[in-house]
Amino acid sequence: MKKMFLGTNWKMNKTTAEGLSYTDALTDIISKYPEFEFFIIPPYVQLWKIRELIDSKKSTLKLGAQNVHYEDAGQFTGEISPTQLKEIGVDILEIGHSERRQYFNETDYTVNLKTLAALKHGFTPLVCIGDSMQDKKYGVSKEVLARQLKIALHDVPADAIGKFWVAYEPVWAIGVNGIPAEAPLVNDIHNHLRDVTVELYGEAGRGIPLLFGGSVNIDNARQYAPFENVNGLFIGRSAWQPDSFEAIMKSL
Ligand code: PEP
Repeated sequence: MKKMFLGTNWKMNKTTAEGLSYTDALTDIISKYPEFEFFIIPPYVQLWKIRELIDSKKSTLKLGAQNVHYEDAGQFTGEISPTQLKEIGVDILEIGHSERRQYFNETDYTVNLKTLAALKHGFTPLVCIGDSMQDKKYGVSKEVLARQLKIALHDVPADAIGKFWVAYEPVWAIGVNGIPAEAPLVNDIHNHLRDVTVELYGEAGRGIPLLFGGSVNIDNARQYAPFENVNGLFIGRSAWQPDSFEAIMKSL
């Protein structure tokens, strides 16, 4: 099996006690799967404690935050800055999840500002893009995704390649009402995204990891994973229990 990135965003779920218990179990599990690189993205308020737990177990598990502001400090009530997340020892910043775009006014342009800020501070931005059901219906998914990706990566230099990841998460596939994507569609879209990264960066663009997310589960993970341009899986509900996450690892 090729090297893959496997991770989960908990969204607004789990108490701190539950998050710590999950992390404790997951750090034990992942030591059995050295072929994968794992990450978890808990709610902000749990990050300090989970960082301490990961470090105390000397685990390779990477820690992410679900959002970030692009300024270092300022009059932005309720927001969290890259500097504050750096202090905690967060590794990854998830940027542009469709729920942030849908409910919290995230745009392609703020995704770009946040991506640049994350890189400036030495984080790994995990840039999320996704087409809507309407985009799919009207046959414009590829244009929409190319646009999102080009704006997100505007001014990101080629020497940042390898320091950021991109997740394709079709909005229509995400969450309890999501429809899992057919494997050939995932392959087709990821090949298209690879064409876009090559258009932007030349051959070096092949070095940008492309993760897939949206109703990934025990049945479909093994269908998506072998595709050349699927470099990881970004999993929600099916990875929120350590044993169901491990079932997916085993299936690959
Ligand atoms: C997500 O929202 O990023 C996600 C992948 O969720 P789920 O797997 O639960 O559809």
